[in-house]
Parts: sequence; structure tokens; C-alpha cells
Amino acid sequence: MKKKPDKWVFSTCGYCGVGCGLYIGVKDGKAVYTKGNPAHDVNMGTLCPKGLSEHQLINSKERVTAPLIRKEGVLSESTWDKSFSKVADEFKRIANKHGKQAIGVLSTGQLLTEEFYTLGKFVQLGLGTTNFDGNTTLCMASAVMGYKQSLGSDGPVGAYEDFQKANTIFLVGANISDNHPILKLHLAKNKNNPKIIVIDPRSSKTAQMATTFVPIKARTDLALFNGLAYIVIEQGWEDLGYIKANTNGYKELKKHLQGYSPQEVANITGIDVKTLYELAREFVAQDAVLTAWTMGVNQSFMGTDTVSAIINLHLLTGQIGKEGAGPFSITGQCNAMGTREFGFTSSLPGYRNFGDAGALKEYARIAKVPEDIVPTERGYKYAEIIDAIDRGEIKALWIVATNPLVSFVNQDKLRKTLAKLDILVVQDAFMSDTAEIADVVFSAATWGEKEGVYTNSERRCNRANKAVEPLGNTKSDFDIVLEFSKYFDGVSELLYPEWEKPLDAFNEMKEISRGQLCDYSGMTYELLEEKGGIQWPCNEERPLGTKRLYSPDIAFRTKDEKAKLICADWFPMAEPVSASFPVLLNTGRTVEQWHTRTKTRSIDILNDLAPESWIDINPIDATALKVKSGDRMSISSARGRVEDVVVRVTQAVREGNIFVPFHYNTQLVNTLTSESFCPKSGEPNYKQTAIQLHSREVPDGLVFKETEISGEIEHIKTAYEGIKFVEKEKVVNI
Ligand code: SF4
Repeated sequence: MKKKPDKWVFSTCGYCGVGCGLYIGVKDGKAVYTKGNPAHDVNMGTLCPKGLSEHQLINSKERVTAPLIRKEGVLSESTWDKSFSKVADEFKRIANKHGKQAIGVLSTGQLLTEEFYTLGKFVQLGLGTTNFDGNTTLCMASAVMGYKQSLGSDGPVGAYEDFQKANTIFLVGANISDNHPILKLHLAKNKNNPKIIVIDPRSSKTAQMATTFVPIKARTDLALFNGLAYIVIEQGWEDLGYIKANTNGYKELKKHLQGYSPQEVANITGIDVKTLYELAREFVAQDAVLTAWTMGVNQSFMGTDTVSAIINLHLLTGQIGKEGAGPFSITGQCNAMGTREFGFTSSLPGYRNFGDAGALKEYARIAKVPEDIVPTERGYKYAEIIDAIDRGEIKALWIVATNPLVSFVNQDKLRKTLAKLDILVVQDAFMSDTAEIADVVFSAATWGEKEGVYTNSERRCNRANKAVEPLGNTKSDFDIVLEFSKYFDGVSELLYPEWEKPLDAFNEMKEISRGQLCDYSGMTYELLEEKGGIQWPCNEERPLGTKRLYSPDIAFRTKDEKAKLICADWFPMAEPVSASFPVLLNTGRTVEQWHTRTKTRSIDILNDLAPESWIDINPIDATALKVKSGDRMSISSARGRVEDVVVRVTQAVREGNIFVPFHYNTQLVNTLTSESFCPKSGEPNYKQTAIQLHSREVPDGLVFKETEISGEIEHIKTAYEGIKFVEKEKVVNI
């Protein structure tokens, strides 16, 4: 019999970056229900399957309910004091012997912002290591760095309302139907009968709802956006008034784009010249053009520059800072934004750049800490931390609410690398694959058991409330950090004087961000709840926040307040398909599961719908391999092999490409993925891995089909040296 809740607690979904407003139903101290908040601007009462069943994760059988210490090879229940003492003693020993930088920390996009700020402060100013990054580097780092190099600061430009106001919406590498389904509500409210142009190598569920689907060749998006910018300038479609008043670098970009003629870009991307002109024309034929993207763009070894190439197009045509227009990164995790704003990873808190002496001084003054303990530069990024462990430079690793033993690339190597650590500490609410190999586990409270704020993709700071007490002997991440800091002499007194609750962190964050782009100074917890979240900047002048950035009264955050047009080059893949590995593997998500399934695998209503991994394969390749839907196949790459994955034959993927979801720890697809990263953001190139397929009937797999790429661009010719391309891909019309 269903339990009728005796109270409803206002909150925000803790899964994805859409940031849906909801209520948690509580009965006898237990969360028993979740329902959408009809008054919330983000989701208008609707939730996706994950949101609707979210209360079930609180009492999941996968929860870690007490701190654990490994004894004689087995993780055994312990006390907080013993766990904190053991880790603190080991961290101090390692810091004394090898230096503070020998401690590495990997965080997440899942904590509340107050927790990010508290953790970052402790890691950077308390432990004194800058080797601190988050799993957000695996999903949003390219958007962060792209915004920074083009606009002077991180920070998504637009609002969900722009999906309602645009005349044309480009969705690039963004399968919102699976990954951000609630955004479709905003599209449905658009009265302009908008064109929805989906650019993706895969005919995803999102592509199937498009007005126009552009099946671009994998990892050629940067060439496409350079090509569209070329056409805009060639045709005199650029907005010279806007460019002159608001940007730098026009002349250099115009010259640079000469290498991206329409025919050349057609050859690279597989999109015919006529279509390229039609796509470019959209940017000037329509009043408002929005370009939204997610991991298809970010998870690329050219991710940062691809983001900037998208922004270039919007700057050239003045399609930014106005209703319905702009470049718009859609965030993956519920609070990837919070760690960007205050987490001490990609910048100092409040979007202060590392290396800016004035910003450092100001931060130290407001936070009341000595200037000489505030870092002057960023430490190692995620993958660099892993490499430093491999080299023996980092000896201790503290992992908070993330599960690299499913989510990071080249899993066999990672597992061997983590075994080299003197100590591995995992702080998590769930018994993740990484927690299973930890020396100490800090048992954390989860969503619904703690309070604070999340920021969603449109810069909306949302309130998440505590509905029930933390399960068993768990503590909120905020409390864990505060209490752990007391095991280090003087640290707690210096960093958290009289701090007791997340509100203390929130109040400091308000002061830290005052006058910055991510200005929280006008927010209160009460106002956030009353308004269903507020989009920053929010201050005295903008008491109800700001819909979109870079409208005429908000300048770009560069020194001269002008955006920078970036000259970016397209490069072919570092690991192209070959005779040994002739197929491209693309990885991604499905609506029923969340990340590495630590939260969703025990929720039957979700897990039963997608209980195991699968391979989407084109009918032509399926015929060659003599497989049909429901059969099983193995996949191999230069790094490993995954056995017996279920086959799904579908036209959704093109010939020579497959898609496999990344969620599953059995049939672990990241066994195959490579260590190819964007040099600017450090984000892995998850989306293209050269692989071979092995069926029972055809164990040696597919035969290599070479592809012709024309070589007019000098650097492309050079990069392709030694690789033969003979078969021209057919040009696709839309
Ligand atoms: S769309 Fe995202 S934020 Fe909304 S309910 Fe689903 S998972 Fe939660």
C-alpha cells in the first residue's frame, strides 16, 4: 500500500544540470515520494524518470552507511574519529616526506555549492595542495575554457527561455531527448515554429525530432563552424557594427578562415556545400539563433577550440546577448556549475582567474586568510593527477563523489596506477567501484539528507533542502570536511571560524562573488525558494537576477571588455581508424541510468529498463558481421577488450560507427577508450575510439574501408601523411 506523505519538502533534482524543481514527500522520517514543482520555471511540474524516482536512492542497498577502514584486505566498519585520524596521519606523513603536492584530490559535480567551497578551501588552503580537480573536467571543462578564451570568463550565456524565443536552434552533439529531456518542454513552448537543426554523427532520439538533421562525420565539428564563419564573411553577412564595437581579432580570423573554404569543409565534414551555405544563412536570415551543445562538442581533443569556433559564429553575426540567441553549453551534472563558480578547481572562487594578483589579494581579504596560502596557479588537471600517481609523484588520493573506475579512460592502466598509491580515500554515499578498492571510505550523506544550493545550466542558483536525516552513520560532505579539518593544527580555526552550517559558507560565497560575473550578493535562501531559483548575477541592481549575459549593459570580462575572435584549427583524430581497428566507437548516456549507475542500479524502475550495456550498429555492418538484434559481440581496441555485449541493429548509427553507453561497470566500455585529451581543458576525447568488432560468425571483424579526405589545408595534409584515404564519403543533403 502506498504511504501518503505527511510533509512535502521543497528541493531541486540532484541528477542532471537541467535543475528541475521538485518536492520530496516524507512519511515517518523517510522519503517516500518525489513530485515535480508546478510553479518552477525550469520544469513546470514535470520530471523525467530519474527525478520521479529520486527518493528511492536515499535508502538504496548500495549506500555506505558507516565509515570504513581496510583491515587485512577487507573494508570494515569503523568510527569517524579512527577514519579521520588514519587519513590525517597519513596525509601529514606524506606531506612531510614528499611535499604537500604529493596529495591529490578528485572531486565531482554532485555536491552542493557550499560543500564545494568548503572542500576547495580545505584542499587548497588547508592541505596546501593545488593538485585538485573534479570529474567536471570529464564533461564541462572544454566549455569552461572556451568561454574563458573567447569571452574572458566562464559562464553560460543564455537562459532556457531562449529555447522558447529562438527562431532557429542548432543542437550540436547534444542528445537532449535522453540526457536533458525536460528542455523539450521549453522547445514546445516556442511559438515561432522554430527550425531545429541537429548536427550529430548519430541519428539520436533528438535527431529524430529535428526539422533538419545534419549527419556530420565524427569529430569534424570544428571544421564545420570554421567553414560557416568563412561563408558568413565571404557573403558579407557579418554584423560589422557589432564586431567593431564588441570584439577583437576580426582581421586575423578572416585571414585564418581562408583555409576553410566550403568545398574543403564539405570534404572534411561530409556535409555538402549547398547545405553549408544554408546553415550559415540561418545566422543572418533569422532574428534569433541559439546554438546549444553538450558532450559531443566538449568531450573532444579539440573541445575548447570547438566551443570557441561556435562562439565566433555568434559574435560575427551579433547573435549573442539578446532574447533567443547565443551560444549555450548544456551542463551535465546537477552542480557542475557550482564547482566552476566556487570550487577552487578551474579558477579561484567567484570566477577569479589564477595568476591574477589583484584577484588573489581580494579573495584573501574577503576570506580573511593570509595571501601567501592562496594558490597563484592551477595544479594538475584530472588526467595529469593520474599520470603523477603513475610516476610516483602523488602518493595519496582523496576521491569525493566520483567513480573513476568506471568513468575514466583506459581502465586497465588506471587500475594499475591507483594500486601504486600509499593511500586511497573515497568519500561517497554509495559503494562505488572505486570505493571498493579504497583504504578508507568516508560515508557521506546524499541528496535529500543535506541542504545547500545547486546552479543549473542557465546560471540559476536553486535551493536543495534537507528532507530526512542522514542514513546510519553518514554525514553531509559539508560536515565531513569541517570535522576532518580539525585533525590539522589551526586549519579549522583559520578557514572556518564559527562555521556550523552551509549558510555560513553561503554568506562567505556572497561576499566573495560580489561584483563578479557570478554575483550571489543579492541572494538569500528564502528568496531562492520563493522564486524557484535565481540566475546570477544577482545583486542590488539586479535583485531578481539576470536572464542572459552580454546584453548591452553587461560587458565581456576581458581587460578591454571586448570578446576575442579565436583562430582555431581543425585536426584529424590522433587515433584514426586503421586496418586493425576499422570502426569508430562513440559513447554516451541513456535516460534511464545516471553516470556510473551507483545511484540508479538499485532503482528497479530505472534499472529494469536498461539493465545492461548494448551496441548500436548499422544494418550494413551487422550483415557483414552476420549478427542480428539480440546477439552478442565483443569489442576490442589497442587498450583492451569487452566481451559479449548485446547487439541492437539500427539506422541511428552510420556505417563504420557504433554507439555504446558508458554507464556499465560490467562490459566496461572505458576499457577501450584512449588517453587523448584537449590540451587546453584536459577533457578526454571519449567520443571516438578506433575499435574492432568480433562476432561468433566473423571473429576477425570488419574489413577496413578507407576514406578519402582532400588535402588542400596544409596542416591537414601533414597530419594525414602516411594514412591512405581512397573512398570518398557520399555527400549528404538535408
Ligand atoms: S531532467 Fe535532469 S534535473 Fe530534471 S528530473 Fe530529469 S534528471 Fe532531474
